[in-house]
Amino acid sequence: MYFTHQAPALGAATLPQPQPVRLFATAALAVLAAFFALAAPTAVRADTLTVYSARNEQLLKPLLDQFTKSTGTQVQLLTANEGALLARLNAEGASTPADVLITVDAGNLWQAAQQNLLQAVASPVLEKNIPAHLRDPAKQWFGMSVRARTIVYSKARVTANTLSTYEDLADPKWRGKLCLRSSKKVYNQSLVAMMMQDLGEAKTEAVVKGWVANLATDVFADDTALLKAITAGQCQVGIVNTYYLGRLLQADPAFPVGLFWANQATTGVHVNVSGAGVTRYSKNPALAQKFLEFLSSDEAQKIYTDKDLEYPANPGVAADSVIKSWGSFKPNPINVSKAGELQAAATRLMDRAAYK
Ligand code: FE
Repeated sequence: MYFTHQAPALGAATLPQPQPVRLFATAALAVLAAFFALAAPTAVRADTLTVYSARNEQLLKPLLDQFTKSTGTQVQLLTANEGALLARLNAEGASTPADVLITVDAGNLWQAAQQNLLQAVASPVLEKNIPAHLRDPAKQWFGMSVRARTIVYSKARVTANTLSTYEDLADPKWRGKLCLRSSKKVYNQSLVAMMMQDLGEAKTEAVVKGWVANLATDVFADDTALLKAITAGQCQVGIVNTYYLGRLLQADPAFPVGLFWANQATTGVHVNVSGAGVTRYSKNPALAQKFLEFLSSDEAQKIYTDKDLEYPANPGVAADSVIKSWGSFKPNPINVSKAGELQAAATRLMDRAAYK
């Protein structure tokens, strides 16, 4: 069995509100009281696991069903954006019904650990299934899928051999030809954070200033709009997470944007994760750990990544065939937790560079 709730209006929660939570939508405290009273009455039962997820329900449901099938454990799912989930976990404190937090981007996972919302999990299974650079050195969260953020280009206007690195997109030869997503998105904050780790702050700042000077148009709110701007001729090159291109290619195999693996002769492609951790106040940490171990298994990794066209974090599992056609790539081996550690500094750097 599998139940879902969506989060009531707390912080930045944006999803449509189901009954009965809507009745309490005005004050955050009333909402919380309502949640405890009405929404999760079975959360502390030994055979029930409560998952808070910023990853959408459609992607998770087949996994939760599979976990229930193989263990008999019922799963309650609450989905909301990551900001709302962290605010909620903070507000609920020790009375949270949540056992597991799932969210995207190491920057967000790092924030959750930083806010003392997660607990360390010592699991030989997770340590075997998930490479060290894709999990928290302090064991509080584990990457479950890998997203690569790399260079894309107009097949009509650019030849791939003129591309090389993220840094090269700052070269004046790309003046008026570059599209970027907003610096407000954590994906770009993480990318810049990793560049700071590799190149140092001064060099990274010069690169980001070069990007801004090369922009063809205002920054985009999402990667899909950016990809479409390339096909519309607004710009010729950009940086996106590969699954956004994968989705467009699934809809239209002739979508005329190419993918280029950045920095293959140097630092490697910037990778990030979606991942999970056991909440600090889980009433059933052993079961929560079992769920994380399940997520890292061969069986679950396929389900977890195929639908969203991400790469499995477990290197023993093959990627979906659509994305396999892009070939293998060398990822940046820096631990993804660096993206969190340097996030604030990266944001300041992008501000200084007038990257909106
Ligand atoms: Fe995304």
